[in-house]
Amino acid sequence: MRVESAEGAFLAWGACSPKSRIRVRVWSFDEGQRIDAPFFRELLRKAIALREPLRIASDGVRLVHGESDGLPGLVVDRYRDILVAQFSSCGAERWKAVLADALLDLTGLEKLYERSDASARALEGLPEVKGWLRGSGDTACVIHENGWQLGLDVDLGHKTGYYLDQRDSRGAMADYARRFGFRDVLNCFSYTGGFSVAALAGGAQHVTSIDSSGPALAQARANIERNGFDPARATFLDADVNASLRRFLAEGRSFDAIVLDPPKLAPTVAHAERAARAYKDINRLAFRLLNPGGVLFTYSCSGGIGVELFQKIVASAAADAGVDAVILQRQGGTADHPTALAFPEGEYLKGLVLMRRA
Ligand code: SAH
Repeated sequence: MRVESAEGAFLAWGACSPKSRIRVRVWSFDEGQRIDAPFFRELLRKAIALREPLRIASDGVRLVHGESDGLPGLVVDRYRDILVAQFSSCGAERWKAVLADALLDLTGLEKLYERSDASARALEGLPEVKGWLRGSGDTACVIHENGWQLGLDVDLGHKTGYYLDQRDSRGAMADYARRFGFRDVLNCFSYTGGFSVAALAGGAQHVTSIDSSGPALAQARANIERNGFDPARATFLDADVNASLRRFLAEGRSFDAIVLDPPKLAPTVAHAERAARAYKDINRLAFRLLNPGGVLFTYSCSGGIGVELFQKIVASAAADAGVDAVILQRQGGTADHPTALAFPEGEYLKGLVLMRRA
Protein backbone atom coordinates (compact mmCIF):
# COMPACT_ATOMS: atom_id res chain seq x y z
CA MET A 1 0.00 0.00 0.00
CA ARG A 2 0.95 3.63 -0.47
CA VAL A 3 1.67 5.46 2.80
CA GLU A 4 1.01 9.17 2.67
CA SER A 5 1.37 12.12 5.02
CA ALA A 6 -1.74 13.95 6.23
CA GLU A 7 -1.18 16.35 3.32
CA GLY A 8 -1.17 13.48 0.84
CA ALA A 9 2.57 13.49 0.15
CA PHE A 10 4.18 10.13 -0.61
CA LEU A 11 6.03 8.59 2.34
CA ALA A 12 6.59 4.94 1.51
CA TRP A 13 5.37 1.71 -0.04
CA GLY A 14 4.51 -0.74 2.69
CA ALA A 15 2.64 -3.86 3.64
CA CYS A 16 -0.40 -3.36 5.82
CA SER A 17 -1.12 -5.64 8.79
CA PRO A 18 -4.68 -4.79 9.78
CA LYS A 19 -4.61 -6.87 12.99
CA SER A 20 -1.13 -5.91 14.18
CA ARG A 21 -0.07 -3.01 16.37
CA ILE A 22 2.66 -2.51 13.77
CA ARG A 23 0.16 -1.42 11.16
CA VAL A 24 2.55 -0.93 8.25
CA ARG A 25 5.95 -2.41 7.44
CA VAL A 26 7.83 -0.44 4.85
CA TRP A 27 9.21 -2.06 1.73
CA SER A 28 10.60 1.09 0.12
CA PHE A 29 10.81 4.86 0.62
CA ASP A 30 11.29 5.36 -3.12
CA GLU A 31 8.09 6.37 -4.89
CA GLY A 32 9.41 5.05 -8.19
CA GLN A 33 10.10 1.57 -6.81
CA ARG A 34 7.75 -1.17 -7.94
CA ILE A 35 7.07 -3.76 -5.25
CA ASP A 36 7.19 -6.91 -7.36
CA ALA A 37 9.04 -10.21 -7.76
CA PRO A 38 12.28 -8.62 -9.11
CA PHE A 39 12.27 -6.21 -6.13
CA PHE A 40 12.23 -9.10 -3.65
CA ARG A 41 14.76 -11.13 -5.61
CA GLU A 42 17.17 -8.19 -5.48
CA LEU A 43 16.75 -7.78 -1.71
CA LEU A 44 17.44 -11.49 -1.22
CA ARG A 45 20.45 -11.36 -3.54
CA LYS A 46 21.88 -8.46 -1.53
CA ALA A 47 21.25 -10.22 1.79
CA ILE A 48 23.04 -13.37 0.60
CA ALA A 49 25.90 -11.36 -0.95
CA LEU A 50 26.39 -9.45 2.32
CA ARG A 51 27.28 -12.72 4.09
CA GLU A 52 29.79 -13.94 1.54
CA PRO A 53 32.83 -11.85 2.64
CA LEU A 54 32.14 -12.74 6.29
CA ARG A 55 33.63 -16.22 5.69
CA ILE A 56 31.57 -17.67 8.50
CA ALA A 57 33.18 -20.73 10.07
CA SER A 58 30.02 -22.78 9.69
CA ASP A 59 27.59 -24.15 7.16
CA GLY A 60 24.80 -22.96 9.42
CA VAL A 61 24.31 -19.30 8.46
CA ARG A 62 21.55 -16.72 8.75
CA LEU A 63 20.96 -15.50 5.21
CA VAL A 64 18.12 -13.06 5.87
CA HIS A 65 17.66 -11.16 9.13
CA GLY A 66 14.33 -9.32 8.83
CA GLU A 67 14.30 -5.53 8.94
CA SER A 68 18.09 -5.37 8.88
CA ASP A 69 18.03 -6.85 5.37
CA GLY A 70 15.10 -4.68 4.29
CA LEU A 71 12.75 -7.65 4.65
CA PRO A 72 10.62 -7.14 7.77
CA GLY A 73 8.95 -10.34 8.84
CA LEU A 74 11.34 -12.67 7.04
CA VAL A 75 14.09 -14.77 8.57
CA VAL A 76 16.00 -17.34 6.53
CA ASP A 77 18.63 -19.69 7.91
CA ARG A 78 20.70 -22.11 5.89
CA TYR A 79 21.67 -25.43 7.46
CA ARG A 80 23.89 -27.20 4.92
CA ASP A 81 21.52 -27.98 2.05
CA ILE A 82 18.31 -27.03 3.88
CA LEU A 83 16.89 -23.53 3.94
CA VAL A 84 14.54 -22.70 6.79
CA ALA A 85 12.30 -19.66 6.52
CA GLN A 86 10.04 -17.91 8.98
CA PHE A 87 7.36 -15.58 7.62
CA SER A 88 6.07 -13.50 10.51
CA SER A 89 4.34 -10.50 8.94
CA CYS A 90 1.40 -10.12 6.57
CA GLY A 91 3.71 -8.61 3.95
CA ALA A 92 6.18 -11.50 4.02
CA GLU A 93 3.26 -13.95 3.98
CA ARG A 94 1.78 -12.25 0.92
CA TRP A 95 5.04 -12.68 -1.05
CA LYS A 96 5.86 -16.15 0.30
CA ALA A 97 5.84 -18.01 -3.03
CA VAL A 98 7.97 -15.38 -4.77
CA LEU A 99 10.45 -15.33 -1.87
CA ALA A 100 10.63 -19.13 -1.74
CA ASP A 101 11.33 -19.50 -5.46
CA ALA A 102 13.93 -16.72 -5.46
CA LEU A 103 15.70 -18.20 -2.43
CA LEU A 104 16.10 -21.59 -4.08
CA ASP A 105 17.20 -20.02 -7.33
CA LEU A 106 19.79 -17.75 -5.69
CA THR A 107 21.29 -20.44 -3.46
CA GLY A 108 21.03 -23.33 -5.92
CA LEU A 109 19.39 -25.42 -3.18
CA GLU A 110 16.25 -27.53 -3.49
CA LYS A 111 14.85 -27.78 0.01
CA LEU A 112 13.04 -25.07 1.95
CA TYR A 113 11.34 -25.79 5.25
CA GLU A 114 8.84 -23.35 6.69
CA ARG A 115 8.89 -22.55 10.41
CA SER A 116 6.17 -19.94 10.61
CA ASP A 117 5.23 -21.10 14.09
CA ALA A 118 6.59 -18.18 16.08
CA SER A 119 4.27 -16.38 18.51
CA ALA A 120 4.72 -13.18 16.44
CA ARG A 121 2.40 -14.73 13.81
CA ALA A 122 -0.53 -14.54 16.21
CA LEU A 123 0.02 -10.78 16.67
CA GLU A 124 -0.40 -10.46 12.91
CA GLY A 125 -3.53 -12.58 12.93
CA LEU A 126 -1.77 -15.32 10.96
CA PRO A 127 -2.10 -19.05 11.72
CA GLU A 128 0.94 -21.14 12.62
CA VAL A 129 2.39 -23.09 9.70
CA LYS A 130 5.15 -25.68 9.67
CA GLY A 131 6.33 -28.00 6.91
CA TRP A 132 8.17 -28.33 3.61
CA LEU A 133 7.50 -25.35 1.37
CA ARG A 134 9.79 -26.61 -1.42
CA GLY A 135 11.34 -30.06 -1.72
CA SER A 136 11.13 -32.69 1.00
CA GLY A 137 13.23 -35.10 3.01
CA ASP A 138 14.74 -35.63 6.42
CA THR A 139 14.38 -32.67 8.77
CA ALA A 140 17.44 -33.75 10.77
CA CYS A 141 20.85 -32.55 9.69
CA VAL A 142 24.37 -32.02 11.00
CA ILE A 143 26.14 -28.69 10.56
CA HIS A 144 29.85 -27.96 10.96
CA GLU A 145 30.38 -25.01 13.27
CA ASN A 146 33.82 -23.84 14.36
CA GLY A 147 35.11 -27.27 13.28
CA TRP A 148 32.57 -29.20 15.37
CA GLN A 149 29.69 -31.35 14.19
CA LEU A 150 26.35 -30.27 15.60
CA GLY A 151 23.11 -32.12 14.95
CA LEU A 152 19.82 -30.31 14.76
CA ASP A 153 16.30 -30.83 13.49
CA VAL A 154 14.64 -28.06 11.50
CA ASP A 155 11.19 -29.41 12.37
CA LEU A 156 11.61 -30.24 16.07
CA GLY A 157 14.20 -27.63 17.07
CA HIS A 158 13.57 -24.22 18.61
CA LYS A 159 13.23 -21.23 16.28
CA THR A 160 14.50 -22.47 12.90
CA GLY A 161 16.37 -25.35 14.53
CA TYR A 162 19.42 -23.80 16.15
CA TYR A 163 20.74 -20.63 17.83
CA LEU A 164 23.11 -19.39 15.14
CA ASP A 165 23.43 -16.00 16.86
CA GLN A 166 25.58 -17.57 19.60
CA ARG A 167 28.16 -19.09 17.20
CA ASP A 168 30.94 -16.62 18.10
CA SER A 169 30.24 -16.91 21.82
CA ARG A 170 30.54 -20.70 21.53
CA GLY A 171 33.82 -20.23 19.65
CA ALA A 172 35.02 -17.91 22.42
CA MET A 173 34.11 -20.53 25.05
CA ALA A 174 36.51 -23.02 23.43
CA ASP A 175 39.26 -20.37 23.52
CA TYR A 176 38.66 -19.49 27.16
CA ALA A 177 38.63 -23.17 28.10
CA ARG A 178 41.98 -23.60 26.36
CA ARG A 179 43.56 -20.57 28.04
CA PHE A 180 42.10 -20.96 31.52
CA GLY A 181 42.23 -24.74 31.63
CA PHE A 182 38.67 -25.12 32.97
CA ARG A 183 38.08 -28.38 34.79
CA ASP A 184 34.39 -28.28 35.72
CA VAL A 185 32.00 -26.36 33.44
CA LEU A 186 28.28 -25.77 33.99
CA ASN A 187 26.22 -25.00 30.89
CA CYS A 188 22.81 -23.64 31.92
CA PHE A 189 20.00 -23.48 29.31
CA SER A 190 22.21 -25.72 27.17
CA TYR A 191 19.68 -26.48 24.42
CA THR A 192 21.50 -28.98 22.14
CA GLY A 193 24.81 -28.53 23.94
CA GLY A 194 26.65 -26.11 21.66
CA PHE A 195 28.54 -24.48 24.54
CA SER A 196 29.16 -27.93 26.04
CA VAL A 197 30.82 -29.19 22.87
CA ALA A 198 32.83 -25.95 22.74
CA ALA A 199 34.06 -26.33 26.33
CA LEU A 200 35.07 -29.97 25.75
CA ALA A 201 36.79 -29.02 22.49
CA GLY A 202 38.75 -26.42 24.48
CA GLY A 203 39.89 -29.14 26.87
CA ALA A 204 37.48 -28.77 29.78
CA GLN A 205 37.51 -31.95 31.81
CA HIS A 206 33.80 -32.15 32.52
CA VAL A 207 30.64 -30.33 31.47
CA THR A 208 27.22 -30.43 33.10
CA SER A 209 24.41 -29.35 30.75
CA ILE A 210 21.04 -28.28 32.12
CA ASP A 211 17.89 -27.77 30.07
CA SER A 212 14.18 -28.30 30.62
CA SER A 213 13.74 -29.78 27.14
CA GLY A 214 14.25 -33.54 26.95
CA PRO A 215 14.63 -33.67 23.13
CA ALA A 216 17.23 -30.85 23.26
CA LEU A 217 19.23 -32.80 25.84
CA ALA A 218 19.01 -35.99 23.76
CA GLN A 219 20.49 -34.03 20.87
CA ALA A 220 23.14 -32.57 23.22
CA ARG A 221 24.16 -36.09 24.26
CA ALA A 222 24.38 -37.13 20.60
CA ASN A 223 26.46 -34.03 19.84
CA ILE A 224 29.01 -34.92 22.53
CA GLU A 225 29.41 -38.39 21.01
CA ARG A 226 29.38 -37.11 17.44
CA ASN A 227 32.50 -35.09 18.23
CA GLY A 228 34.29 -38.06 19.73
CA PHE A 229 34.33 -36.94 23.36
CA ASP A 230 34.27 -39.53 26.12
CA PRO A 231 30.64 -39.59 27.38
CA ALA A 232 32.05 -39.74 30.93
CA ARG A 233 33.09 -36.10 30.49
CA ALA A 234 29.47 -34.98 30.17
CA THR A 235 26.45 -34.96 32.49
CA PHE A 236 22.93 -33.94 31.42
CA LEU A 237 20.20 -32.66 33.67
CA ASP A 238 16.60 -32.42 32.46
CA ALA A 239 15.64 -29.82 35.05
CA ASP A 240 14.83 -26.24 35.87
CA VAL A 241 17.98 -24.12 35.99
CA ASN A 242 16.99 -22.01 38.99
CA ALA A 243 16.16 -25.07 41.11
CA SER A 244 19.34 -26.85 39.98
CA LEU A 245 21.55 -23.89 40.90
CA ARG A 246 19.97 -23.79 44.37
CA ARG A 247 20.49 -27.52 44.76
CA PHE A 248 24.17 -27.24 43.72
CA LEU A 249 24.66 -24.50 46.30
CA ALA A 250 23.12 -26.66 49.01
CA GLU A 251 25.43 -29.50 47.94
CA GLY A 252 28.49 -27.26 48.11
CA ARG A 253 29.28 -27.69 44.41
CA SER A 254 31.40 -25.16 42.50
CA PHE A 255 32.54 -24.63 38.91
CA ASP A 256 35.42 -23.05 36.97
CA ALA A 257 33.11 -21.73 34.27
CA ILE A 258 29.36 -21.21 34.06
CA VAL A 259 27.21 -20.35 31.03
CA LEU A 260 23.84 -18.65 31.53
CA ASP A 261 21.97 -18.36 28.24
CA PRO A 262 18.30 -18.17 29.20
CA PRO A 263 15.41 -17.79 26.76
CA LYS A 264 13.95 -14.35 26.13
CA LEU A 265 12.69 -13.33 29.58
CA ALA A 266 11.62 -9.82 28.50
CA PRO A 267 10.21 -9.78 24.96
CA THR A 268 9.28 -6.11 25.35
CA VAL A 269 10.10 -3.24 27.70
CA ALA A 270 6.81 -3.92 29.51
CA HIS A 271 8.24 -7.20 30.82
CA ALA A 272 11.58 -5.66 31.80
CA GLU A 273 11.03 -5.35 35.52
CA ARG A 274 9.97 -8.92 36.20
CA ALA A 275 12.63 -10.18 33.82
CA ALA A 276 15.28 -8.09 35.57
CA ARG A 277 14.52 -9.92 38.80
CA ALA A 278 14.76 -13.30 37.06
CA TYR A 279 18.08 -12.39 35.43
CA LYS A 280 19.43 -11.12 38.72
CA ASP A 281 18.40 -14.27 40.53
CA ILE A 282 20.17 -16.73 38.22
CA ASN A 283 23.26 -14.52 37.96
CA ARG A 284 23.48 -14.20 41.74
CA LEU A 285 23.28 -17.98 42.13
CA ALA A 286 25.85 -18.51 39.39
CA PHE A 287 28.32 -16.08 41.00
CA ARG A 288 28.00 -18.00 44.25
CA LEU A 289 28.77 -21.27 42.45
CA LEU A 290 31.80 -19.85 40.64
CA ASN A 291 35.28 -20.70 41.90
CA PRO A 292 37.64 -17.77 42.54
CA GLY A 293 39.41 -17.13 39.22
CA GLY A 294 36.45 -18.72 37.41
CA VAL A 295 34.60 -17.28 34.42
CA LEU A 296 30.90 -16.53 34.00
CA PHE A 297 29.46 -16.27 30.47
CA THR A 298 26.13 -14.53 30.93
CA TYR A 299 23.65 -13.57 28.19
CA SER A 300 20.35 -11.84 27.58
CA CYS A 301 18.46 -12.09 24.31
CA SER A 302 15.65 -9.86 25.58
CA GLY A 303 14.95 -6.89 23.34
CA GLY A 304 13.35 -5.23 26.38
CA ILE A 305 16.62 -5.21 28.35
CA GLY A 306 19.33 -2.95 26.97
CA VAL A 307 23.04 -3.51 27.36
CA GLU A 308 23.41 -0.92 30.15
CA LEU A 309 20.53 -2.32 32.17
CA PHE A 310 21.86 -5.85 31.71
CA GLN A 311 25.24 -4.81 33.10
CA LYS A 312 23.52 -3.17 36.10
CA ILE A 313 21.52 -6.32 36.78
CA VAL A 314 24.64 -8.50 36.65
CA ALA A 315 26.58 -6.01 38.81
CA SER A 316 23.92 -6.06 41.51
CA ALA A 317 23.80 -9.85 41.32
CA ALA A 318 27.56 -9.97 41.98
CA ALA A 319 27.21 -7.49 44.85
CA ASP A 320 24.44 -9.58 46.43
CA ALA A 321 26.53 -12.72 46.04
CA GLY A 322 29.48 -10.94 47.68
CA VAL A 323 31.63 -11.62 44.63
CA ASP A 324 34.17 -9.26 43.08
CA ALA A 325 34.10 -9.72 39.30
CA VAL A 326 35.49 -7.88 36.27
CA ILE A 327 34.33 -7.80 32.66
CA LEU A 328 36.82 -9.57 30.43
CA GLN A 329 34.79 -9.22 27.26
CA ARG A 330 31.48 -8.00 25.87
CA GLN A 331 29.74 -10.19 23.36
CA GLY A 332 26.86 -9.78 20.94
CA GLY A 333 25.24 -11.57 18.06
CA THR A 334 27.12 -12.80 15.03
CA ALA A 335 27.79 -10.77 11.87
CA ASP A 336 25.26 -12.78 9.87
CA HIS A 337 22.63 -11.21 12.18
CA PRO A 338 23.53 -7.60 11.33
CA THR A 339 21.73 -4.58 12.77
CA ALA A 340 20.58 -1.83 10.42
CA LEU A 341 21.92 1.49 11.75
CA ALA A 342 18.44 2.97 11.77
CA PHE A 343 16.95 -0.09 13.50
CA PRO A 344 18.68 -0.35 16.90
CA GLU A 345 15.67 -2.32 18.22
CA GLY A 346 17.00 -5.19 16.15
CA GLU A 347 19.97 -5.57 18.47
CA TYR A 348 18.73 -7.98 21.10
CA LEU A 349 21.59 -10.27 22.14
CA LYS A 350 24.19 -9.15 24.65
CA GLY A 351 26.72 -11.06 26.64
CA LEU A 352 29.28 -10.44 29.36
CA VAL A 353 32.29 -12.62 30.04
CA LEU A 354 33.19 -12.02 33.67
CA MET A 355 36.01 -13.26 35.83
CA ARG A 356 35.65 -13.69 39.55
CA ARG A 357 38.74 -12.23 41.16
CA ALA A 358 40.78 -14.87 42.90
N1 SAH B 1 22.89 -21.81 24.70
C1 SAH B 1 22.07 -22.47 23.72
C2 SAH B 1 20.74 -21.79 23.48
C3 SAH B 1 19.87 -21.64 24.69
S1 SAH B 1 18.19 -21.31 24.33
C4 SAH B 1 22.87 -22.65 22.44
O1 SAH B 1 24.01 -22.18 22.37
O2 SAH B 1 22.36 -23.27 21.49
C5 SAH B 1 17.42 -21.42 25.88
C6 SAH B 1 17.15 -22.83 26.39
O3 SAH B 1 16.63 -22.71 27.70
C7 SAH B 1 16.14 -23.65 25.62
O4 SAH B 1 16.77 -24.83 25.18
C8 SAH B 1 15.03 -24.00 26.64
O5 SAH B 1 14.57 -25.33 26.52
C9 SAH B 1 15.75 -23.81 27.94
N2 SAH B 1 14.94 -23.42 29.11
C10 SAH B 1 13.95 -22.50 29.18
N3 SAH B 1 13.54 -22.33 30.45
C11 SAH B 1 14.29 -23.18 31.21
C12 SAH B 1 14.36 -23.45 32.61
N4 SAH B 1 13.57 -22.81 33.49
N5 SAH B 1 15.25 -24.35 33.05
C13 SAH B 1 16.05 -25.00 32.16
N6 SAH B 1 16.04 -24.77 30.84
C14 SAH B 1 15.18 -23.87 30.37
